[in-house]
Amino acid sequence: MSGRSESSPPLDPESIAVHAGRDDDTSLAPPLYPTTTFRTPTVDDGRRMATDPSESRFYTRYGNPTVAAFEDAMARLEQAEAARAFSSGMGAISAVVMGLCSSGDHIVAQRQLYAGTQLLLQAHCPRFGIDVTFVDGTDPDAFAAAIRPGKTQLVLAETPANPRLDIVDLDALGSIKGPITVVDSTFAPPLIQRPLDHGVDLSLHSATKAIGGHNDATLGVVSGSAELLGWLWNYAVLHGANAAPFDSMNGLRGLRTLGVRLERQCATAQRLAETLEEHPLVERVCYPGLVSHPQFDLAKRQMTMPGGLLTFDIRGGIDAGTCFVEQVKLALMATSLGGPETLVTHPATTTHVGLLPDELSDAGIGPGTIRVSVGLEHADDVIADIVQALDAAARA
Ligand SMILES: *Cc1c(COP(=O)(O)O)cnc(C)c1O
Repeated sequence: MSGRSESSPPLDPESIAVHAGRDDDTSLAPPLYPTTTFRTPTVDDGRRMATDPSESRFYTRYGNPTVAAFEDAMARLEQAEAARAFSSGMGAISAVVMGLCSSGDHIVAQRQLYAGTQLLLQAHCPRFGIDVTFVDGTDPDAFAAAIRPGKTQLVLAETPANPRLDIVDLDALGSIKGPITVVDSTFAPPLIQRPLDHGVDLSLHSATKAIGGHNDATLGVVSGSAELLGWLWNYAVLHGANAAPFDSMNGLRGLRTLGVRLERQCATAQRLAETLEEHPLVERVCYPGLVSHPQFDLAKRQMTMPGGLLTFDIRGGIDAGTCFVEQVKLALMATSLGGPETLVTHPATTTHVGLLPDELSDAGIGPGTIRVSVGLEHADDVIADIVQALDAAARA
């Protein structure tokens, strides 16, 4: 970062988010390089550039300066040696799985997962001869206990996890030796938690969500050691799910305001969670900032803030659940999270509709389960809207 000497005091991550990923260019906003390719100066340069994971001026599927600016910022925020951006969160997850695992390998993953990740592991890994064991992510010993020495290549966790915001003990996960450990930290961006600090090998985000933060960039990112990212790069350039320069520019734009957005979303989510706990139609509220959350203490230990997502169960089954999501007026019924607008989703009929009934209940999803991504509207308006929709569902 220009203007700061080696002896400057270390910056708070919120300040790093405002400045990281800006090189010596005098432009404050990242220059957008839509180009697919670059002039190669000499044959020797070309040979080197085609094999160097940190080269951003060879061919955009390999790397791109705008994408690299976002990757550099993410690596700094994660305190990682390197980061690689992808065209989506699933692009990142499938590249990690396919890039690091081979036929005959074994994966340990938690049962509570983003539905796309679960379907990839459950329906597609077996096609490639990769065996997957699902464990309870809230049991700190379950991951290690399921490891098959010499066979398990990857241990994959998500925390907080879809959709009930279960928390995985990052210290326990980070202490696992042998397999590569990966955490999908989408629900807790780098200002909230840093899995690598706990000894985890790879931290992964769908930057489509809070990092991009404006519902206008589809983007994924993986951070870790230069060695692991180099391995991943070898596959990623063939996998082809490279991040678009335009989306990377918007990902970087999102990082600039991540701190204030998270602070606001967490404050509103906390108030909303406490209000919902008192509502007669609400059976249960899951929010890591509530003392009633079964892992409240663990969340407090490893997260600086509880996040902008909460999940609750409405009494009255499918009718009450679907009535609620159709009755909200300010909040929007849409699938995603981490943006400016408060969004409500009914997982049983949307994100998790591909799951069988027993898989749904394993994932903790009932007919009245609602997930809320708290946005940036005034807290009073968000709470009033959710409460009026609940009252309408109660009358239905
Ligand atoms: C959305 C999401 C993904 C997938 O990200 P895309 O950008 O939609 O591909 C993965 N994991 C979690 C936890 C998510 O919320």
